[in-house]
Amino acid sequence: MKTRTKLVHGGTRRSQWGEVSEALFLTQGFVYETAEAAEARFLSAGPDEFIYARYGNPTVAMFEERIAALEGAEDAFATASGMAAVSGALTSLLRAGDHVVAARALFGSCLYVLEEVLTRFGVEVTFVDGTDLEQWRAAIRPDTRALFFESVANPTLELVDIAAVAELAHAAGAVVVVDNVFATPVYSGAIAQGADVVVYSATKHIDGQGRCLGGVVLGSRDYIRKVLEPYMKHTGGALSPFNAWVMLKGLETIDLRVRAQSASAQRIAEALQDDARVRVIYPGLAEHPQHALALRQMGQGGTVLALEIEGGQAAAFRFLNALEIVLISNNLGDAKSIVTHPATTTHQRLAVERKAALGITPGLVRLSVGLEDPEDLIDDLRGALRAAAG
Ligand SMILES: *Cc1c(COP(=O)(O)O)cnc(C)c1O
Repeated sequence: MKTRTKLVHGGTRRSQWGEVSEALFLTQGFVYETAEAAEARFLSAGPDEFIYARYGNPTVAMFEERIAALEGAEDAFATASGMAAVSGALTSLLRAGDHVVAARALFGSCLYVLEEVLTRFGVEVTFVDGTDLEQWRAAIRPDTRALFFESVANPTLELVDIAAVAELAHAAGAVVVVDNVFATPVYSGAIAQGADVVVYSATKHIDGQGRCLGGVVLGSRDYIRKVLEPYMKHTGGALSPFNAWVMLKGLETIDLRVRAQSASAQRIAEALQDDARVRVIYPGLAEHPQHALALRQMGQGGTVLALEIEGGQAAAFRFLNALEIVLISNNLGDAKSIVTHPATTTHQRLAVERKAALGITPGLVRLSVGLEDPEDLIDDLRGALRAAAG
C-alpha cells in the first residue's frame, strides 16, 4: 500500500459490528473469560491482547500502527503528550554516568528535560550548535549514549543534517533521538536518514485541529518493546484512548493538510520576501542558508515561517495586534494560522543573552500556516506589516 492508502486503512481493527469508522474503545480495562486466561495474559500478552489502558488499548494500538506505517518505523508507542514522548524516549535509554550531546536550539521544555531533569540523575549533557558538524564531532565521547536534536529548530528554523550526525553517532555507538515535529511525519524520512528514535508531539500536525494533547515515539521493535514500553507502562505517560481516536482520524487527512499548509507557507514566504519591513526565514526559500539540506531532507520548506519584523518588539507587537485572520496563540500545525512572539512567550524563561545566541530576537515572530486561502493570509500579513511600520 502507498502512504495515503495506509493513512486511511492502516492499523484498523474492526469489532464484531463491522463499523466503518474506527471504534473508540473508551475503556481502561478488559474482561477475561476465566482466572486462567487472566493469569496467562499477565504472563505474556499477545499483540492484540490488552490488560490495562496504561499498557495499551485497541484504539491506541490502531493509532500506533498507522503512524508507524507512515514513518516507516518497525514500531511505535503513543504517549500522553509530546513531552511525555521526549522525556520517555530519553529517560528509558539513559542511566547515571551516561553522556548526551544535544543541539542548543530546542523547544523550551526539551531544554528543561536535558538541563534540569537528566542532570539531576547523573547524566552529563553537552550542548552544541546543531548546524555545525564539527561541534557534534568534537563533543561525542566514548561514554556518549545518545544524541538529541530537533531536525528543524523551534522557532529559528535551523536544520540539523540527520544523515551526517547519525553517521558520527553510529561510529561511536550512540543512539540518535530526533524530535521531528517541524518536519512533520509527512515529510520525515528521518529513519531512512539514520535516526534510531523519532518523536512527535501529536498535538501539532497529527491532530492538526487543535483539540488534544498527544505524542508518539517511533523506532525499532526492540527499542520500543524492550526499552521504552516497560518504562512508559510503569511511569504512566500513556495516551488516553479518546485522544488516540482523535489522532487516528487526524492521520486520515494529515497528508492533504500538511501538503496544502506547506504550499501556502511557500507562497507566503515568496510574497513577503522582498518586503523591506520584514526578513523572512523559511527553509523553502533559496536564500535560506540550509535550503539545499531542506530539499534533500524534507523535500520542501515546511508549514512554519519565522518573520523578523523591522523595529523590534514594539513593531512585532503592533504586527500581532493588527492581524485579523491569523490568531495569536502558541500551537502550530493547526488548520488555523497562528502567530507567536517567542521572546515573550515560549522562550520567555531564557536569559536575554541566551535568546540572542539562539537568534530569538525581540522582532522575531513565528507563523504557523493553516488551511485558510493563502491570498487572504497574505493580505492579512501585509496589512499587519503596514501597522507594524506605524
Ligand atoms: C510542541 C512541541 C513539543 C511538546 O509537545 P506537547 O504535545 O506540547 O507536550 C516538543 N517538541 C517540539 C519541537 C514541539 O514543537
